[in-house]
Amino acid sequence: MHLKTYSHAFNLTFIYPYSIDLLLLASMEDYIKAGKIAAEVREHMRKRYHVGRTLLDICEEAEEMIRAKGGEPAFPCNVSLNEVAAHYTAEPNDSIEVRDGDVLKIDIGVHVNGSIADTAVTVCYNPSYSILVEAAEHALREAIRVARAGVKAGDIGRVIEHTIKSYGLKPVQNLSGHSIAKYTIHAGKSIPNIWTIGSFSLQQGEVYAIEPFVTTGDGSGLVYNGDISNIYSIVSRKRTERKEADTFLDMLWTRFKTLPFALRWLKDEDVNHAREMISFLLKKKVIRTYPVLVEGNNRYVAQAEHTIVPTMEGTVVITA
Ligand code: MN
Ligand code: MN
Repeated sequence: MHLKTYSHAFNLTFIYPYSIDLLLLASMEDYIKAGKIAAEVREHMRKRYHVGRTLLDICEEAEEMIRAKGGEPAFPCNVSLNEVAAHYTAEPNDSIEVRDGDVLKIDIGVHVNGSIADTAVTVCYNPSYSILVEAAEHALREAIRVARAGVKAGDIGRVIEHTIKSYGLKPVQNLSGHSIAKYTIHAGKSIPNIWTIGSFSLQQGEVYAIEPFVTTGDGSGLVYNGDISNIYSIVSRKRTERKEADTFLDMLWTRFKTLPFALRWLKDEDVNHAREMISFLLKKKVIRTYPVLVEGNNRYVAQAEHTIVPTMEGTVVITA
């Protein structure tokens, strides 16, 4: 459906050279709606004062807002503190609080009928790290300025790297933006945060997230998998030879398809049973986890993210 939309819009450029963006946007109604909701939630989160709040409260507020506006969370709200760059979401009854001095990345995903918008903001309660946030936002703006159909992803990476380094800071080089497809948050193509040789070119009508991550000059510029992992997704519906596990997997499929989920979303289930089922399904490799990603030198990290649709003329930022 996605590719068909693309070729349809493309063919008509010959006849209607000026309406290409409008045609594209009309065919992307669900993406536009998901993007608008994601942007509204992100801006609400940017303005709120989070010190003293629990990460659980923040996640639940974001996800409830998404639903109230007519979307569904495309993944559990990520609330990653300080040296954790990404992939932390609140546990059930999580009591971790945001403290003065923290740098908090809030990463929000919204889907409407499987069309996903992915966006993030960093809120900073430590003046010595506000430059990280500024650099991440600036790098994202520069990336969007050069992004259009036909531009190489590696050249976007170069712009991001150059902008971040101009602050004397480092990009996190093993984190990247990504293509997005229906019900698929990471659809196989990467938009790097550094210059990369041999990359693909952006295609009109495809959907991409661009997300610079910035760390300090003495950071390693690399993240590694931390010990905690509390976000999961289904990778296979293969039977496990244990009936209750198969039933549990079917329930997960009905609710989340291939989208990531968290334990705290399984409110109807007994939490101990759910934990046991999840660890069994992990062992059977029918679900996977997304471990928290931690800066290699334990330095603080900031992130900014938008979801875009390139056209021949420029790019539509659906989460603007
Ligand atoms: Mn994101
Ligand atoms: Mn993303």
